Amino acid sequence: MHFHVITLFPDVCKTYTDSSILGRAQKTNKGTGSKSKGKKITVAYYNPRDFTKDKHKRVDDRPYGGGPGMVMQAEPILRAWQKAVGRKRDQKKVKTLIMSPRGTQLTNTLAKQYAKKYDHLVLISGRYEGIDARVKQALNAEEVSVGDYVLTGGELPALTIVDSVSRQVPGVLGTFESLEDERATTGETYTRPESITFKNKKFTVPEVFLSGNHADIEKRRAKE
Ligand code: SAH
Repeated sequence: MHFHVITLFPDVCKTYTDSSILGRAQKTNKGTGSKSKGKKITVAYYNPRDFTKDKHKRVDDRPYGGGPGMVMQAEPILRAWQKAVGRKRDQKKVKTLIMSPRGTQLTNTLAKQYAKKYDHLVLISGRYEGIDARVKQALNAEEVSVGDYVLTGGELPALTIVDSVSRQVPGVLGTFESLEDERATTGETYTRPESITFKNKKFTVPEVFLSGNHADIEKRRAKE
């Protein structure tokens, strides 16, 4: 899966996607030789500022018809999109998503579908009052929301999509982690030490978790 993130703040996002599991998924497996072999995902960033023809590098302007705030201009974003996936031959394998609080709400089911159906996901992050509506028209894009709240920018939503879709790409999670994923969530869980003290109170791991009896542990988690 190839992710292409269009954002005014690539560095903020890259720090996240280069860490931990997502970082590992972008690395080649040792010994495979070829450059892209073994990489489960790639994440590329495009800054609309690099695609503006304005001499002051402006990428926003006032909304037609008035109203508060500024709007991200269409053309720098469209040029960034061209650079990212414009030359891909099989456009059926390319999906473009615009981050928007009014979009379809992201679910794990949707993340799974994206992972299965597409090879390239282009994620467009808005800032200010949003993005010129012609971007959606021109790219035949879908608007996606990460939840019923409004953020200051589309970076966290784009990262949320990269993260949740990557987990559905075969090989990104280790075998054990994937097994865990089948159960959606693990539920109540503990690790060492067996007993901790906080504010003079003792907190111990329930006996059943120390028993090693997996059926009993599952039963307890199900009840919870
Ligand atoms: N008044 C604007 C709010 C813009 S918020 C509007 O109604 O669209 C600025 C940017 O943050 C948006 O363009 C979008 O890309 C992103 N954003 C904010 N909340 C979001 C959410 N819940 N899901 C996805 N993107 C969101």
